[in-house]
Amino acid sequence: MGLGGYTGKILRIDLSRDTVRVDALPREWIHQFIGGDGFAAKILYEEVPGGTDPLSPANKLILATGPITGTLWPMSGRTVFVSKGAQTGIWAESHVGGFIGPELRYAGYDVLVVEGKSEKPVYVFIEDDHVELVDASHLWGLTTSEATMKIQEEQRDPDIQVAAIGLAGERLVKFAALIVNHARAAGRTGMGAVLGSKNVKAIAIRGHGGISVANHEEFVALAKRAQERVRVNPQAKEMGKWGTWILTAVKQEIGELPTYNHRTGVFSGWEQLSGDHIRPRYTVSDRACFGCSLGCKKVNYIPDGPYAGTLEEGPEYEGLMAFGSVLGIDDYPTTLKANQICNKYGMDIISAGTTIGFAIEAFEQGVLTEEDTGGLKLQWNDRDLAIRLLEMIGRREGFGDILAEGSREAARRIGRGAEKYAMHVKGLEISGQDGRTHRSIALSHATGARGADHLRSLVTVDQLGYEKVAAQRWGSDKLPEIINPYTEKYKATAVVETENTYCIRDTLIVCWYSVSWPPIFWMNDFAEVLPIATGVEEFGSVERLTEIAERQVTLKRLFNAREGISRKDDQLPERFLKEPMPEGPGKGQVVHLDPMLDDYYRLRGWDLKTGLPTKDTIRRLSLQWAT
Ligand code: SF4
Repeated sequence: MGLGGYTGKILRIDLSRDTVRVDALPREWIHQFIGGDGFAAKILYEEVPGGTDPLSPANKLILATGPITGTLWPMSGRTVFVSKGAQTGIWAESHVGGFIGPELRYAGYDVLVVEGKSEKPVYVFIEDDHVELVDASHLWGLTTSEATMKIQEEQRDPDIQVAAIGLAGERLVKFAALIVNHARAAGRTGMGAVLGSKNVKAIAIRGHGGISVANHEEFVALAKRAQERVRVNPQAKEMGKWGTWILTAVKQEIGELPTYNHRTGVFSGWEQLSGDHIRPRYTVSDRACFGCSLGCKKVNYIPDGPYAGTLEEGPEYEGLMAFGSVLGIDDYPTTLKANQICNKYGMDIISAGTTIGFAIEAFEQGVLTEEDTGGLKLQWNDRDLAIRLLEMIGRREGFGDILAEGSREAARRIGRGAEKYAMHVKGLEISGQDGRTHRSIALSHATGARGADHLRSLVTVDQLGYEKVAAQRWGSDKLPEIINPYTEKYKATAVVETENTYCIRDTLIVCWYSVSWPPIFWMNDFAEVLPIATGVEEFGSVERLTEIAERQVTLKRLFNAREGISRKDDQLPERFLKEPMPEGPGKGQVVHLDPMLDDYYRLRGWDLKTGLPTKDTIRRLSLQWAT
């Protein structure tokens, strides 16, 4: 069986030199990293030296795909953008759905690397072998959607896939996002600011080729069986109907719905943010990414009230949280309006909402005054204020300019003890969970390579009732402790195993919602499909895949270590460690992080004192080149 699943090409565009180069994908990278995140980690570590300014020409933006991206495998349309983080200054990655990943592969490339800086605004246009930097002066200032349509119009092809920045990326808002297909965000860590710093308005891709796998017949048969597994899965059906809105009620029930800047996990207005309330009143259609039969994306319309006429996709649960409960707002239309603005300007809705929550609490506590805010009175449940501040952030106007830096940097500049109210880890705002009532997420947030992360190691068994799956995974003796959300015991076991599995998920790359929730596919399924797709027999071993995942996690850690990250940074805001959950099922709970960190480092083969990979681990994972 020959090598399949890869185009075997890396496209490199140097904006400073106005040059294009195509490199062969080194065979050893495939064996060491499989694809996706793994390829990007290798490139970023080797080519972006420690101390590089994320917004300088020396930083790189990498778009990476995996060996089954754009194939018949269900939900294989996702892709990853990787860079040194504009917002965090460390490892940054942001996954997105839509169609742009498959299109890069059809154009003939596994990976795209954009480096340097263009002298004037351009967009990158890739059509198979044709690669061009096109003048984008006329697009500067346009919304992401306007820019996308203009590019498709002037290139006379509505099927061109575009990742665009809006005003926020142009003005270097630190959590600026890339938007694909008008409404899908590569949202977190500031990829839009990195592209904006390079004077690039958009990356536009059109491909006319195909992808061959190593064993076509077997792959097609297996992919069809996999599609059927998705089709009949009851939780997948629920996800298709409700999208992630289903989580609002679950989070409220377990007391983990971040409310008032994460002060509490219970929100009296939660029902207004639930699927039961939203779908019948506002949803007009369902949408799906490439190759997905679930269609968890929802297009919604506001018929009346102050935001009447708003028609937009989303927001997902995280957006409901960030512009709903975190700000004390019990109003779905406000969250849809906020999502529309975030899509238009190209901003991460989690960081935007949580940074506004930081400011409101700091104002409430007297740390910020009207003198700081330009006369604005900041208060909870103020819909107009939230929308106004969001617009000001996107434009970097007035008080919005300081919030555009994200909560960590804004707090640093404000001083006067404002840090206490900034809910971030390593500079990335905390997503819609609370470690006090879901202990394993406390460890995930603290150890996430890109900062407070809910996508790389979120253990879902304890809250969503997958006891049977979990029993097989972790053994029934450990299970009672693992699924107890209020103890630290065995949480590192669950986090490490989950992180390893998600790592392989992100090398393939397949959607979160087929692996994490609901867990339709797991490591053994990857070990079945990978050899058939690639022809690499060793990928048929779960042990081998686990080793590749460990290599990837450790390489990201080494990248961050070069930027000064160590155990001292694997922390949570004081709120989660010292302020007991004030109400709800988890009343009185706080996080005891240190024992979980010890367990996590032990399982990873990292030094307990420093939290850095030991020499033995580096050698075992063949990462000596990265030290
Ligand atoms: S489940 Fe949702 S995010 Fe995943 S591929 Fe389908 S539509 Fe896209």
